[in-house]
Amino acid sequence: MCGHNTTLARRVRAHHLCTVFAPILLDAHNPSPMTRSGNNTYLIASDDGTAVLVDAGVGHPQHLSAIDAQLSATGCRLDHVLVTHGHADHAAGAAAIAANHPSAIFAKHPCPEEDARYDVAWRAISDGQSISIGEDALTVLHTPGHSPDHVALWHQATATIFTGDLVILGGSVMIHWTRGGDLAQYLASLERLLTLQPRVLLPAHGPRIDDPTAVLNGYLEHRRMRERQVMDALRAGHRTVQAIAESIYDGLEPALLPAARENVRAHLEKLKRDGAAFEAVGSWTLS
Ligand SMILES: [Zn+2]
Repeated sequence: MCGHNTTLARRVRAHHLCTVFAPILLDAHNPSPMTRSGNNTYLIASDDGTAVLVDAGVGHPQHLSAIDAQLSATGCRLDHVLVTHGHADHAAGAAAIAANHPSAIFAKHPCPEEDARYDVAWRAISDGQSISIGEDALTVLHTPGHSPDHVALWHQATATIFTGDLVILGGSVMIHWTRGGDLAQYLASLERLLTLQPRVLLPAHGPRIDDPTAVLNGYLEHRRMRERQVMDALRAGHRTVQAIAESIYDGLEPALLPAARENVRAHLEKLKRDGAAFEAVGSWTLS
């Protein structure tokens, strides 16, 4: 009787261990002023012997060997590589990973001009789609704004979201207006994450976020503050993107100024679309 109970306990414990959702953080080894310490990618191994990688990094040899080492350690083969969006620090490693794992499926939300830069056969994913990982699944959330093709991946059972470039703890996300970034869409995407009441956010840059509601609300407030600053700069007579960026981002590293200009441009485009706020300061030609 006792022996039977022990066996049962062991089986329950083993079953529990197999079903724990434990994404493995793999550093993409690409530090730079734009990527900070570099990109996070996440390997999710399942007990049916398949694994999913979230984001492809840039193909750095140390990243490629870390992927292989974790696949060996978990006894899994790489089944899917889900790319949050087509920016190079998330997608450029796809071809190198495909060369090592020819049966893996590479999937992202379509964006023809970005996707053509990477030599893999992308499979299109869309909002609401479910992607299985063994008995588990991730749901695709189309979350445009940072880029038109941006997706986040939602693991409902643990209330975890892989957030790509939507949030960076202690930092601000760049809205690349000239590459399809859209501030209004970005804010709507943050609001959408909030409504899911997540417990954990796993971003593509920086540490994991264990208080998502506070961080997401902080992000929304930060953008409202930036919008007020842009309005103040307009009222002060600044009429070019460069002049507004310099007045707001005082003392910014020169390497980050182009990104600051992109953010200002994104705010101006939103104000222009909002209409009323823009009319308050008159019209001008953006330059
Ligand atoms: Zn990005």
